[in-house]
Amino acid sequence: MMRTVSIPVNLPSERFLPLMGQCAEIFNAHVDWALANGTYNKNKAHRDLYADLRLKYPGVPSALLQTVRDNAMEAVKATKFKRTPRKKPTSGLRYDKRTMTLRGCQLTLSCVGKREQVVLSIPDYFKDVFENWDFKGATLTYSKHKKQFWVRLIFEAETPQLQQSEEAQGIDRGLYHLASTSDGQFFSGSKIRATQRRYLHNRKTLQQKGTRSAKRRLKAMSGKEKRFMKDVNHCVSKQLANQPQFSIFVLEDLSGIRTQRRGKKLNKWLSSWTFYQLELFLAYKSERLGKQVKFVDARYTSQKCSVCKHIARTNRTKSRFHCRNCGHKAHADVNAAINIRDNYILSAAASQSVEQAAVNQPYVSGTACA
Ligand SMILES: [Zn+2]
Repeated sequence: MMRTVSIPVNLPSERFLPLMGQCAEIFNAHVDWALANGTYNKNKAHRDLYADLRLKYPGVPSALLQTVRDNAMEAVKATKFKRTPRKKPTSGLRYDKRTMTLRGCQLTLSCVGKREQVVLSIPDYFKDVFENWDFKGATLTYSKHKKQFWVRLIFEAETPQLQQSEEAQGIDRGLYHLASTSDGQFFSGSKIRATQRRYLHNRKTLQQKGTRSAKRRLKAMSGKEKRFMKDVNHCVSKQLANQPQFSIFVLEDLSGIRTQRRGKKLNKWLSSWTFYQLELFLAYKSERLGKQVKFVDARYTSQKCSVCKHIARTNRTKSRFHCRNCGHKAHADVNAAINIRDNYILSAAASQSVEQAAVNQPYVSGTACA
């Protein structure tokens, strides 16, 4: 399994911007050659272009030129001659083990002349990746808007064996409780909610003002708010993934309804990217532990009774669930989380019995079955 870690770095732009520009030209020259000759063969490209390009760009290290060549040939191969891949002067630059080294948090990058050394400041939640995963390569990018270089480091580790126990936990996501689980746990704190409320309040007052400085503050704050929520999501997903008694986490598939209205409050408070982020974080933290994240249909999970399966909109009043049919009472989010878990268990059982049937009747062809 792979992980990508992006970290801002301070590099001398007078050294690296010209290098990126030249590498973009080298890339484009290779693409032109490939399209003109109808091939993306790396050896042929090397034979035809290498000597000339070395003369034209004497400062670009040979290993970097070859990386750019490989990069260009792969880009042409991927587009099957149908498009013309192009790099801009500030397009990302790929580095590999020939052109860079990473020791601890010290990164060395090839450049014109001598190599450049930088010390990376690694956030706490990436420390484990840096210490225990294999470093594979990196891409150097530049944000023109912020005048800032970034390195995207790629790491790899062996995918752990899937855990044997198959205990599933349903998770209902919301804004009041970021996560409510089928076994009755709530993951969120009053601190989170207080901060969210404060942000919302500030945003409202600033929006009403509508002045230019208010707009500027609004923009700055959204970054702060995003960083805050990212931290919260890291924290909650870690707690969820680390629960030793569960190896499968079941979430609602929100991809279909993400754009629709999910109630005024949800739309107003935070856009659904925080939900998506939690999902993403939970997925990779689970993968590292040999656990899995599964998705189920999100329809009716909040209206359905988890005991008698009766569906009615009136079953739910805010956070209270009270079944009109059997009288079952529960916290509405926990009831939803149980439905989410049970939807997964039912669909898993159904697909297993299909497989089992196929094993039991190996001579029945697919068409006969249908
Ligand atoms: Zn019921």
